[in-house]
Amino acid sequence: MNTREELSILIAQAKEHLRYYGELGLTHIGETSAPAAPEPKVEVLAAVSSAPTTYAPPEPKRPEPLAPTIIPLPQGAPKPTITMPTKQENSAVDSRFGEPSLFGDAAPSLSETLHADETLEDIRRDLGDCRRCKLASTRTNIVFGEGNPKAELMFVGEGPGADEDATGRPFVGRAGQLLTKMIEAIDLKREDVYIANVVKSRPPGNRAPEADEVKACIPFLFRQIEAIRPKLIVALGNPAMQALLDTKIGITKMRGQLLDYPRVSGIKVLPTFHPAYLLRSPDKKREAWDDLKKVRAFLRGEL
Ligand code: URA
Repeated sequence: MNTREELSILIAQAKEHLRYYGELGLTHIGETSAPAAPEPKVEVLAAVSSAPTTYAPPEPKRPEPLAPTIIPLPQGAPKPTITMPTKQENSAVDSRFGEPSLFGDAAPSLSETLHADETLEDIRRDLGDCRRCKLASTRTNIVFGEGNPKAELMFVGEGPGADEDATGRPFVGRAGQLLTKMIEAIDLKREDVYIANVVKSRPPGNRAPEADEVKACIPFLFRQIEAIRPKLIVALGNPAMQALLDTKIGITKMRGQLLDYPRVSGIKVLPTFHPAYLLRSPDKKREAWDDLKKVRAFLRGEL
C-alpha cells in the first residue's frame, strides 16, 4: 500500500469517528476555545469533559474501573417478590397515571408470564421458530436479545429493524451504534447490559408493532426480565415504555422519571427517547443525556 492509499484510509477512519461524535452532539472536536457564537451543546460532553463548550478528547483509558455489574445473592437469600398484576390490578396500574391501559382486558395472564426460575436459554427454547403472530411470515431472523444474563441494567427497544433482522442481533444498525455510544457515555460497555425488544420479529417497513403483535410477544420480554432481574430497565421510546408500564401515555410526558416496574417488585423503569428518534431529532439529545445521567446515578446508588 502506498502513502497516498494509507492517507485516504486514515481520512476515512477520522470521518467515521467524527460522524459518531456528531451523533452524540459533540460538534467542536479539537477546538481549544469556544466558538464565536456557541450553539447549545448536548451535555454528553460532561461524560468526558467538564467544559461544556470545548471538547477535550477522551482519555484512552477509562478514568475508573467499572463497578461490577453482577451482585451474587447470598446462598439461600429470598428472591425479590414477583407481583403479577391481575386484570383488575392492571387498571390500578393505569390509574397511577390517570390514563387507559395499553392492554385493557387483554393483559397477559399470570400463567402466560410466570415461569419460576427459568433461564434465558429456557425462554429462547420455548420461543422456538415462533409463529405466534403475523410478523413471522416476513422476518428473516428472530431477534431474541443479547448481553449479560445477570445485568443490572437492561435496555428495551420496540422491535428489530433491517440490520437486526438480517443478523439476528438487537440494535446493530445506526440507532444501535448510537445506543452503544449512550451506554459507553455512562461508563458501561455493551456487554455489561442486556438489550431486548418488545417484539422479536421485524415489523415490515420499520412500522411500529401492532397491538396483536405486542400481545403475542410481550410475555417473552416479561419472562426475560424475570430471568435477568435487572435493577433498572431503560425503556427506549413509546412502544417499549407503554408495554412495560401498561399505559398509553406518551414518552414526552414520561421520560426521565424513575418508575416502578409493575410486574416485579424492586425493579425500576426509566423511559427515554429511542436512539432512532434522537438521530432524527438531535435537539432532543440534551434531554436524553439528562436521563442517562440519572441512570448512572441510580446504578451508583446516588438516587
Ligand atoms: N430499533 C429497535 O427498537 N430495536 C432494535 O433492535 C433496533 C432498532
